[in-house]
Amino acid sequence: MSPIKMGVDPEAIKAPTPQAAGWYKLKLIGFKPKRGKTDNNSINYNATFEVLDPAIPPAGNAKALVFATMSIKMPNVINDIVHGLGFALEADGELPGKWVPDPADAEDVEKFQYQGPLMGRTMEAELAETEYNGNKRNEIRQVRCAVPQCNTKYPDIRHRTDLIGKKK
Ligand SMILES: [Zn+2]
Repeated sequence: MSPIKMGVDPEAIKAPTPQAAGWYKLKLIGFKPKRGKTDNNSINYNATFEVLDPAIPPAGNAKALVFATMSIKMPNVINDIVHGLGFALEADGELPGKWVPDPADAEDVEKFQYQGPLMGRTMEAELAETEYNGNKRNEIRQVRCAVPQCNTKYPDIRHRTDLIGKKK
């Protein structure tokens, strides 16, 4: 009889080491939409990006990940990321593509699945090393726009060089 391991993998409980601050290529691998904690009418898209060519490779086969809240209350963050992925927002402010509800619970935005051209796309982004609840992590400082002729096509848009700003 082989011994059954009753414990957890000690490697799995270590906080991931954040990437050194700098520019990276990030690939969008998913959204997990959530309602805002304080404002139920607000939505966070909660994007997950894989860091391609991470400076600090994670242990084992894990992917180096970076998360972006993408609250609809911070439209510049959403717009800059969408432009970084090579697309513009729709005229009504929606992401290109669509959100598909769960047929069993069509009203619950937290169960919406994104289907659209952003998925799997990459962008160039500057990561900053920040701290949250005592844990070091990465946040997206700025994104390099990948929309051709952005400033002539969208003269009213100014991309930000610091999306992090002050802490709430
Ligand atoms: Zn742009």
